[in-house]
Amino acid sequence: MTFPVIEKAGLFTAVFSTRTGGVSSKPYESLNLGMHVGDNAENVLENRACLCRAVGINYEHLVSGAQVHGDKVQVIDYHSQGRGAFSSEDSLPGIDAIVTNTPGVPLSSYYADCVPLFIVDPVEKVAALAHAGWKGTVLRIAQKTVEVMVSDFNCKPLNCTAVIGPCIGQCCYRVDAKIINKLKHAYLNWEQFVRDQENGQWNLDLSAANRQALLDSGLKYHNIVNVNLCTCCCEDLFYSYRRSKGNTGRMASIIEIN
Ligand SMILES: [Zn+2]
Repeated sequence: MTFPVIEKAGLFTAVFSTRTGGVSSKPYESLNLGMHVGDNAENVLENRACLCRAVGINYEHLVSGAQVHGDKVQVIDYHSQGRGAFSSEDSLPGIDAIVTNTPGVPLSSYYADCVPLFIVDPVEKVAALAHAGWKGTVLRIAQKTVEVMVSDFNCKPLNCTAVIGPCIGQCCYRVDAKIINKLKHAYLNWEQFVRDQENGQWNLDLSAANRQALLDSGLKYHNIVNVNLCTCCCEDLFYSYRRSKGNTGRMASIIEIN
């Protein structure tokens, strides 16, 4: 899956993978890109090579964070090239969002229901990926990522474009009061993101909350694209942690400055 809104100026290559076209077998069938989920590492590397070849990226250069559902943002350059490309132990520890202005260093992040965020500034030529599950969403990692783009690279949020990739939709994401109470503290308009099931449970729209965090960061509404695809509903296309009760593969978001 590619995003014309990011790629239109020819400055960035950005992709989100589906689960199809790879070599992994059940329960990872078939394009599993996650190294940490119990799949055969050779299959994962072959899948990563296959996807990256299709979009003109060197899979040996992929950089990834350890994705601990925190809010730490790391700025990287070519010194980090390949961190996490061959083993998850080598990924950037404690990191859920990565920012760079270095061309040719592909950022990557791995998903099965959490929200993939792509953020670019075509003026300062800066690219970022952020991983937001419910914890990253209430920690407002989207906003913290934009703040690093501003502080470290002088990006102007009005110039930035963001894509909210496929994630678990409000249709399928039922949560309890513990999560809703945290959401209330993180977002003034939290009620816009939830549907009360009136049994102590709510259906939460993580993508809408992350869009709000991006708007609060200063991005323009029309520069934020939500692809609105539910990973839990679309079994043929996507892995879903919730649908599979945790035993499944991972899709990847990848972005590189050309
Ligand atoms: Zn759904």
